[in-house]
Amino acid sequence: MKKNVAVIGLGTMGSMVSWQLAKKGVSVTGFEQFGIGHDRSAVGGESRLFRTAYREGAEYVPLLRRARQLWCDLEEQSGNRLLSLIGGLTIGKADSVNVRNVLKSILDYNIQHKLYDVKEAQPLFPQHRFDSDDAIILDKEAGYLRPELAVVAAINQAEKHGAVIKRNTKIEDIENTDQGVTVIANGKRFTFDEVVVTGGSWVKELLPQYKKIIQPRRIIMTWFVPKDLSKFQDENFPTFARTTEKYDFFGIPTLDQSMIKVALIGSEEAINNPDLLENNISMEEIAAPIEIASSYFNNLNPDPVRLSAHMDAYTPDDHALVGRLNDKSNVIVMSGFSGHGFKLAPVMGEVASELILDDRTEHSIEHLNPDRFDKSG
Ligand SMILES: Cc1cc2nc3c(=O)[nH]c(=O)nc-3n(C[C@H](O)[C@H](O)[C@H](O)COP(=O)(O)OP(=O)(O)OC[C@H]3O[C@@H](n4cnc5c(N)ncnc54)[C@H](O)[C@@H]3O)c2cc1C
Repeated sequence: MKKNVAVIGLGTMGSMVSWQLAKKGVSVTGFEQFGIGHDRSAVGGESRLFRTAYREGAEYVPLLRRARQLWCDLEEQSGNRLLSLIGGLTIGKADSVNVRNVLKSILDYNIQHKLYDVKEAQPLFPQHRFDSDDAIILDKEAGYLRPELAVVAAINQAEKHGAVIKRNTKIEDIENTDQGVTVIANGKRFTFDEVVVTGGSWVKELLPQYKKIIQPRRIIMTWFVPKDLSKFQDENFPTFARTTEKYDFFGIPTLDQSMIKVALIGSEEAINNPDLLENNISMEEIAAPIEIASSYFNNLNPDPVRLSAHMDAYTPDDHALVGRLNDKSNVIVMSGFSGHGFKLAPVMGEVASELILDDRTEHSIEHLNPDRFDKSG
């Protein structure tokens, strides 16, 4: 018999879970509290890094390689260009954890790459002002994604395969019953065989056992205009993630190639209530990006021309929670992607579909076990 599955939260992960499940013939009902691709979720901000040589750990590489294939599938099925593989630089001290993890990924998985010292890199990447002891690594299997378009495309594909999408419908509670799992919205009850909870920063409202583990954090993006646009184009300006003594930050050329987006990593402010994301950005908050623009680049105008605030759910070790809940085995959680989950989204959709259809997944997700933390906190 066809399985009847609810997906709660149709942002990044929920859209891909819905697409993958519906494509495989599962009867899917997706619930989203706002509209599809709305900018209060972790979807907003125009672009997302895609990297394969992974500073967060080499164990992600097989997932990332599969994610890349699935991004291409979604491009083909939707007719939209979602992924631009323009390459991505890692810049940092040779003995830093980030550089070591990137090199381990490259060696363990034979990732196409190029290593440079500063003398070699400076003429090739004159946009950056390198430190004399920087190691520079070009991941040729990196680039950027178009997040809003990707999420809308995945939901459109899910609907094409028969998924029922309930927009502006907030799920208030989840209950285990003899018939399966019941979800409650606007006082109405809907019962399913299985439920996938992809609520991002709101997930602990539905799964309070993760109250002490999931922390929504605010992420600020800033955009700067280059003095010489011709040097900041897709063909000569790869995406980058850079660790200096003072800052950890990343950047991406804008889709229209007229600016670059720069964001800090690791200084995200905790948010108590995800419904109250502060959109105003203070001068104090942009002091660091302004210093970065003038200290680590050549030829960027120093004032940000665009700012935006978003949020994502973080865990204590910055790795997501993915898998069945121990106590509610017909509930799967996927949240806590800690500022680096977008690129993984389609493979997470595949993981959910395998867990539901085969009760196991071929993918290696042990490091994402949702029971690895002490929930009593
Ligand atoms: C500004 C920014 C930049 C980032 N940069 C990168 C990057 O370069 N590369 C990268 O790989 N990752 C990046 N990330 C991280 C990545 O975007 C996130 O890890 C990922 O998008 C999280 O997806 P999610 O599905 O968990 O959450 P979301 O995309 O936020 O989706 C959660 C959805 O659930 C809905 N929802 C919640 N509760 C309910 C409910 N009760 N009922 C109905 N609907 C509900 C919400 O409205 C929302 O739509 C970035 C994140 C941010 C915010």
